[in-house]
Amino acid sequence: MPDVRRDIPRTDVALADPRLAAARARLGVDAVKAAVRGAQQKARDGEIAAEAVVDVAAASLPSAATTLRPILNATGVVLHTNLGRAPLAPAAVDAVGLAAGYVDVEYDVETGRRARRGRGMLDALLARVPVAEDALVVNNGAAALILVATALAQGKEIILSRGEMVEIGDGFRLPDLLTSTGARIREVGTTNRTNLSDYASVVNADTGIILKIHPSNFRVEGFTSEVRVNELATLGVPVVGDIGSGLLQRNLLLPAEPDATTWLTQGASIVTASGDKLLGGPQAGLVLGDRGIVHTLRRHPLARALRVDKITLAALEATLRTPQTPTDLALRADSQELKARASALASRLTDHEIDALAVQSNGTVGGGGAPGSILPGWAVRLPDDFASPLRQGSPSVVGRVEDGHCLLDLRCILPADDDAVYDAVLAVALKRGEACM
Ligand SMILES: *Cc1c(COP(=O)(O)O)cnc(C)c1O
Repeated sequence: MPDVRRDIPRTDVALADPRLAAARARLGVDAVKAAVRGAQQKARDGEIAAEAVVDVAAASLPSAATTLRPILNATGVVLHTNLGRAPLAPAAVDAVGLAAGYVDVEYDVETGRRARRGRGMLDALLARVPVAEDALVVNNGAAALILVATALAQGKEIILSRGEMVEIGDGFRLPDLLTSTGARIREVGTTNRTNLSDYASVVNADTGIILKIHPSNFRVEGFTSEVRVNELATLGVPVVGDIGSGLLQRNLLLPAEPDATTWLTQGASIVTASGDKLLGGPQAGLVLGDRGIVHTLRRHPLARALRVDKITLAALEATLRTPQTPTDLALRADSQELKARASALASRLTDHEIDALAVQSNGTVGGGGAPGSILPGWAVRLPDDFASPLRQGSPSVVGRVEDGHCLLDLRCILPADDDAVYDAVLAVALKRGEACM
C-alpha cells in the first residue's frame, strides 16, 4: 500500500486554504478544524484521496451558522405551526436584514435623545386599524393574554364561556394560562350554547373583564349559540376579544373568521391577536383598542418582560406596509393555476418514468385560523415512499401522506420554486435507480 500519509495536507495548511475561508468566518476555526481532522482521517483510512481533504472538509460543513433547515412546504397547510407558521414577505425579510445592525429603534436622530420604541411599527398598525385608539405589541398572542389578564383581572374574575375554553396546541390551554396570572375564571353557559343572560347574571363587583375567545382551531356545529361582542359590550364591563388569527379587517375569503376592526367597532375594549397567523408576519402578539387600557398595559411591569425586539418590530412594520404577504398569496392561490403547475410538474417527472400524477388536493388554513375551511387546490401525487427521502433532502420538501400516497400540494410553494421541487423528486428517484435521464 502506498503511504498516502505524507500527501495528506497538514492541518495548518488546510486551514489556510481559501476554500475554507468562508466557513471559518461563518463557523469559527474550531468547527473548521474538526471538519479538516475528519477529512484527514478519511484519507488515512483510504476512503478519499489525499488531494480531496480540503474539498471534503468544506462539503461537510453546514452552509449556514444555524441548524434550522429551509423547507418547501408542500403540505397544503398555509400556517403550519411545526414549520414556523407564516413565511415572511420579501419586504419583511429586507427589514430584518436592515434591523440586524444598529438602528434607531428607540432613538431620535434629530434630537439625539431617546424616542418611543417601535413608533414606526405602531403608526403602521394603527393606520391599518383606524378604530383602535392605541396599540401595543408583545411577544405572541399568549403573552398578550397574560398581560391583559394580569393587568385587568389579577385577583378578580374573568368571565368566559364554556364554549371558548380552548387548548391552543402542544397541551397548552388558555384557561390555565389565564389562571396562572392570579385571575379566576368564571365559567358561563355550556359547551354548545351560551346566552347574554348567562354573562349578565354573574357580573359583579369582582369582575375584571369579559373575555371572548375565538375558537380558532375547532368548530362546534348543530344546536349552538354564542353571544356577539356588541351584546357583551352592553354589560358595563371591559370586553376583551381574542381573535387569534390576526385579521385586521374582514376577509371575504374567510367569512367566519373574526377581525380586529369588526370586534372593536362592535364595542370590544381590547382585541388581542397573533402576528404570525393570517396577518402573515413574525411571531408577535397584537393588543389594540382603548387608549386608557393600552396605557395601563404598557406601564405594567410585565410589559417589559414581554416586549419584542428590533427584529420583530422591523418585520412586523414591513408586513403591515407591504401590499401582499406570502400567506395571502397561498390563501388566494387560484385552483386553475395550481392545476396547470401540478400537471406540468407531473408530466416532467413522468418523462423520467417517475410514477407522478396531478390530482386534486384540499389545502387548509391551519395554525389557528378558519377551522374546517377547505382550500381546493392541486398536488403532484407520488408513491408514499418518496415522503421520507424528500423530507430529508436539501432543500427539504415536506408533503402530505394520504391514502398511501405522497402528495406535494403546490398551494404554499411559490411558482419560482417548482423547479426546486422537480429537482428534489428527480434526485430521490435517481438515487434509487428508479428514474431514467
Ligand atoms: C393562536 C392563538 C393564541 C395563541 O397565540 P400565539 O401567538 O400562538 O401565542 C391565543 N388565542 C387564540 C384564539 C389563538 O388562535
